[in-house]
Amino acid sequence: MKIAVAGIGVAGAYLMNQLSDNHDIHVVGFERMKEEEHDAVCAWATSKNVMVDYTRKCGLDFDNYILHDGKKMSVDLGESKHVDIGLRGMVSYDKLKLIQDMIKGTEINYGKAPKKDNLESDFDLIIDSTGFHRNYLPKLDYEMWIPCVQYKVKYNSNNNIPYDDFYLKGFPSMSGYFWYFPLGNGYAHIGAGDFTRKNHNLFVEHFLKKYKCEIIKKNGRPVRISPPLKSEPFYDGRKSIGVGESIGTVYPLLGEGIIPSTICADLFVNNLNDFKTYRKQVLKHFDIYPLVFKFILMKITGTFNLVKNSLDLLRIYHHMKNNQDRYGMEVKIADMMKVSSI
Ligand SMILES: Cc1cc2nc3c(=O)[nH]c(=O)nc-3n(C[C@H](O)[C@H](O)[C@H](O)COP(=O)(O)OP(=O)(O)OC[C@H]3O[C@@H](n4cnc5c(N)ncnc54)[C@H](O)[C@@H]3O)c2cc1C
Repeated sequence: MKIAVAGIGVAGAYLMNQLSDNHDIHVVGFERMKEEEHDAVCAWATSKNVMVDYTRKCGLDFDNYILHDGKKMSVDLGESKHVDIGLRGMVSYDKLKLIQDMIKGTEINYGKAPKKDNLESDFDLIIDSTGFHRNYLPKLDYEMWIPCVQYKVKYNSNNNIPYDDFYLKGFPSMSGYFWYFPLGNGYAHIGAGDFTRKNHNLFVEHFLKKYKCEIIKKNGRPVRISPPLKSEPFYDGRKSIGVGESIGTVYPLLGEGIIPSTICADLFVNNLNDFKTYRKQVLKHFDIYPLVFKFILMKITGTFNLVKNSLDLLRIYHHMKNNQDRYGMEVKIADMMKVSSI
């Protein structure tokens, strides 16, 4: 079987690694960026507790990619409200290097975003792992995404490093947040996403002026937060099937897609010949996402009511409390209430 993997992000790299080991498959990757410009546009934060296992499956050691091991995330909620979240496994890691190591020895065509027709004539199956772009799948009637901007920066002296650990500032109505994620040795990712488009650029510019630094690069892209349930079809009925953010595997509360997209790729590898089971398993694995998405939507539109929607909030809390290692942080009901009150 000839398989094209279109898009070499976390999902595509994992697929290339795992499918290349299968002798019944000839897998070829396509990445629209040139090799020297290939990037991983993302703040690079994840939970090492989960990534260790998926990285090991690829024959690699996640510890070699960790840049900063978090102890505490300071969350500014505005109006003098603040929470400190204890971290238990949240790290920043060299996402690009891990992608590059996962695809070592596999066949990748860089600088290529092939037309769907061309891929259809050359391959038996096209995997759309193009993330936000979703180029090879039917357009969605409804989707929601958050525009984001990000800088990689370097602080040249210890004195002007703004924070020594993870820092977030939530925007009103939970429409997004600003992040400062340390990358070790004075480097950091600073960026922001805001559904209302009001705060993110403004806040990042303000931060850059306040804390003088060397700008290494600027990038950004939207992140899809509508869940898999709202990102169907996963399969176009011909040859294309989606894996990763292209089918909504991003945790809407955090805009966190590295682990979900890797898990999605793993579900695909395990069900390579059974798309129905793959679809079922994706919807089952991410079954909390529609509720979390609804919560964010209600917050943004001002329709969230703590009394009426308390059970929803409680379900989200229980999900995260039961999966603290998965999220790499301590989850407390008091923090959840504070965060949801902005
Ligand atoms: C600014 C920002 C910060 C983020 N920070 C975090 C974070 O700290 N932690 C976290 O867990 N998640 C974060 N996310 C979300 C996370 O990055 C994504 O959800 C995750 O990377 C999705 O993985 P993916 O492989 O599905 O898609 P992507 O990682 O987006 O990869 C898609 C790849 O496809 C390529 N491509 C696109 N179109 C085509 C085409 N037509 N042909 C060929 N190639 C194509 C792209 O160049 C890219 O390399 C962030 C997102 C953004 C935008």
